[in-house]
Amino acid sequence: YDDRDGKIWVDGTLVEWRDANVHILTHAMHYASSVFEGERAYNGKIFLTEEHSKRLLRSGEMIDMPIPWTAEQITAAKDEVLKANGLENAYVRAVAFRGAGEDMGVSSSRNPVRLFIAAWEWGSYYGDAKMKGAKLDISKWKRPSPETIPTSAKAAGLYMICTMSKHAAEEKGCSDALFYDYRGYVAEATGANVFFVKDGEVHTPIPDAILNGLTRQTVIRMLKERGITVHERHIMPEEMEGFEQCWLTGSAAEVTPVGQIGDYTFEVGQLTRDIAEAYEALVRA
Ligand code: PMP
Repeated sequence: YDDRDGKIWVDGTLVEWRDANVHILTHAMHYASSVFEGERAYNGKIFLTEEHSKRLLRSGEMIDMPIPWTAEQITAAKDEVLKANGLENAYVRAVAFRGAGEDMGVSSSRNPVRLFIAAWEWGSYYGDAKMKGAKLDISKWKRPSPETIPTSAKAAGLYMICTMSKHAAEEKGCSDALFYDYRGYVAEATGANVFFVKDGEVHTPIPDAILNGLTRQTVIRMLKERGITVHERHIMPEEMEGFEQCWLTGSAAEVTPVGQIGDYTFEVGQLTRDIAEAYEALVRA
């Protein structure tokens, strides 16, 4: 991803893609002082762009790293990046982090907080699995307690076990991994939230130790508008035995049907297909 043509927004200026670099003594590289966003633009318009800008700022606050830009500036910068790269349908990645500077220890309050924004074409997050039903491994790692790390921040530190889990899953021929949380409840995938269907009603983990995804919130609203009951609650792994359908939600993942999690299997049913289609229509509207 580093050697290509294009422009990346770096601290307020568009620079050549290849020159969007940082020094090795960047604080974030050593201590995970970094927060980010993943968004998608459809027909030139980023879905929920303001909400993503605000979440980036909130994530920064949650890790004690105030980002020196306003939500409006970030939103405008994202549009600038799309335009500069001639992109209409693209993935947008904003990342804010502690740069190199005065400090190289754990404390870094004197180092600048930097903001980079890049965008590129990125097709279906789960490739072929998208409509067939993705196969998920169950991670051996657990999502941590909100007393351990700010679990509602979209912070780099929370993704260390995501990469480890996804690598393990891919080695077993799965597209992703599902986490349980520190209490043993069903939590989320490495970059998406999870939903289940049983007897026409929907069940999804309550976001008390997971990212309350913007797609998750959108899909819950869509379900309620259709008069479908949504239970946001703690879900025990054994309950997956009785669930008929399952899907994942995320800005990158959109609505992706799930066919299997560990030994539990699900059908790609009508509600899953309806919601996936309705989401597709909404983001393009
Ligand atoms: N959980 C995790 C761990 C994620 O990385 C993501 C993707 N941001 C989500 C859930 C879904 O969040 P959203 O719908 O806001 O993209």
